[in-house]
Amino acid sequence: MEENKNNIAKIEKWKETPIRCLDKGFVRLEDVMGDDYSVVQAARVSYGKGTKKISEDRGLIRYLMRHKHTSPFEMVEFKFHVKVPMDCWRQWIRHRTANVNEYSTRYSLAIDEKQETSPENWRLQSPDNKQGSSGFLNAELGNKFSEEEKEFHKIASDVYKKRIDAGIAKEQARKDLPLSTYTEAYWKIDLHNLLHFLKLRLDPHAQYEIRMYAKAIAQIVKDLCPLSYEAFEDYSLNAVIFSAPEIQWIKDKLEATPLFVPEIEQIKNDLFGGNKRETEEFLKKLEKLNVLITP
Ligand SMILES: Cc1cc2nc3c(=O)[nH]c(=O)nc-3n(C[C@H](O)[C@H](O)[C@H](O)COP(=O)(O)OP(=O)(O)OC[C@H]3O[C@@H](n4cnc5c(N)ncnc54)[C@H](O)[C@@H]3O)c2cc1C
Repeated sequence: MEENKNNIAKIEKWKETPIRCLDKGFVRLEDVMGDDYSVVQAARVSYGKGTKKISEDRGLIRYLMRHKHTSPFEMVEFKFHVKVPMDCWRQWIRHRTANVNEYSTRYSLAIDEKQETSPENWRLQSPDNKQGSSGFLNAELGNKFSEEEKEFHKIASDVYKKRIDAGIAKEQARKDLPLSTYTEAYWKIDLHNLLHFLKLRLDPHAQYEIRMYAKAIAQIVKDLCPLSYEAFEDYSLNAVIFSAPEIQWIKDKLEATPLFVPEIEQIKNDLFGGNKRETEEFLKKLEKLNVLITP
């Protein structure tokens, strides 16, 4: 009951406190249905078991995440109100499993705000990743591009306003607005698909701008569903998957130079907080890799 009250207070806080992103954007929680307990409750229905202790809830959530038993995570729904530049939104909207309602620039005047880049924030093309950037343009040159950006934004806004003043339909007047123009939307998604979004968009390969929004969303999710988020960090976000050829390479190496593995009891306690099942799963993985176990 006390926990429930805590979550209500947290939800109210996030509804009232948008997290600022980029220069003029934000993420704000509009609504949420469910929490870690909804995940547990759904899983227990499928396993036909009653209410358990919190420590067992954590273990169950971790088990579900580890074994990709994903449907209980779909029982939690988040709805966000976001303000985001259109180029970033274009990447965001590719996540088809969300429900979206966006500000209409056919119906209303386009938001007269554009994402601006400060002189020290012009990123250079990465030499080895065609999709990425690395390092920054020097601020002196950057200043020139920031000034040019301001002029360009002003021209785009003026042309748009002139068209509107001349009575041209909003749906057509907007066509030359730059992708840096901000839009707003409601974005609703269940926790399973939200974590998939975070996995892809918190990754260092994702573009900086969308990463900032993913970080803001992650902060809210972590606060409201701490056990699910912790399991996500441990078994998805910060975990790695080896391919079959990679496993073969590791096996060959370890056959030549066996690795010392401490006592099973020590692994169980140090690594898995005494969790027998997770320890057994880990030992099976070590077996696959040819890692020798001391008796
Ligand atoms: C770093 C990075 C670079 C990218 N570069 C490009 C690019 O160059 N060009 C480009 O076009 N896109 C690019 N994308 C977008 C990417 O290809 C995906 O469209 C986007 O990340 C959404 O992922 P998703 O489809 O898994 O998510 P969602 O649409 O949320 O779907 C979640 C999951 O649901 C299932 N699903 C949803 N819809 C369907 C469906 N219709 N059929 C079958 N299964 C479905 C899939 O299992 C999917 O993984 C990039 C994404 C990232 C993160």
